[in-house]
Amino acid sequence: MHREHDTWHWTEDSYPAQSVSLRSVAEGNFVVIDTTDGAKRIIAEVDYSSAAETLYEGAIYMVQAMPYQVESLDWTGRKAFVTQTRADYYTDAIDYSRLKILDNFESERDTRTETSRGEVHLVRRIPGYKKIRYYTHENIGFGNINLPDQEMHTTAVWWQLAPSVLDECFDNRQQALDGFLGAAYAMHHVASLTVMAEPHDLGRAVGDGDARWFATVGANGRGQLRTLDGGERDPEAEGRFRPALFLYDNYPGGVGLSAPLYDRRARVVADARSLIQACDCKYGCPACVGPILASDEQRGFSPKQAALTVLEQFSAHVPEEAA
Ligand SMILES: [Zn+2]
Repeated sequence: MHREHDTWHWTEDSYPAQSVSLRSVAEGNFVVIDTTDGAKRIIAEVDYSSAAETLYEGAIYMVQAMPYQVESLDWTGRKAFVTQTRADYYTDAIDYSRLKILDNFESERDTRTETSRGEVHLVRRIPGYKKIRYYTHENIGFGNINLPDQEMHTTAVWWQLAPSVLDECFDNRQQALDGFLGAAYAMHHVASLTVMAEPHDLGRAVGDGDARWFATVGANGRGQLRTLDGGERDPEAEGRFRPALFLYDNYPGGVGLSAPLYDRRARVVADARSLIQACDCKYGCPACVGPILASDEQRGFSPKQAALTVLEQFSAHVPEEAA
């Protein structure tokens, strides 16, 4: 810095902005082109990371409450062509995200539970989408999506329970899986508030951390265990079953959300627990552990209780923080 009277001037020969990494800013935005009535009008721009889940062919894309349908997607040219539609449904992409732990930066463990932060490799496949009717939320159809897998390196925080704890707390692996998925749903929403981000800035996933299997919520509302190729498998058939619940920074390279998340890990678990406990529903609902099926209520299985059991174990031995 150089001082002249009472004013300071920047004298370094490099421009300060040069030292700011733009690595996490993705490669090219997609433009959304409205072709209704033969026109060609750019109506929106979508960043690279969310294009696969919002602009696939057949998607209903909303611009200022006006629904458009994606007619075609030019992936390499980064363009989506849409027309106005009056469809009475919206679409929801099915996300098969699998994570592989590459490096462990720090962790806290005891004999029952373990929480870690580190680098992960994420492969996201969007194999299809659901059509969901407005108001009733009925599922009225499926469509396939044929897009390249999305890959990125990012940082994540993950929680695991020892196999003996899983055996002790759950009748079977299916219930444990449902518990992890329900807990992930609540923790994802609580965590985005805790690190002052939007839910989209964080991703959640349940898997073995080795990219051998990952869990998804199936059309029947139950957790499903899937192998690498996306095929479904009975959890009991897996040799080693040690699910991990991941909350990851949803940008390539990470934008620094996992460190504060790790620091506040005890609070995220505690807040998710109180969120679920305070919810008025009996077996679970979209406000706490995610949508459940009416049949759960008839069978007496409570996805809500399963999620609470998981959170109880996560918090059992984590020292409380002042924050
Ligand atoms: Zn609820």
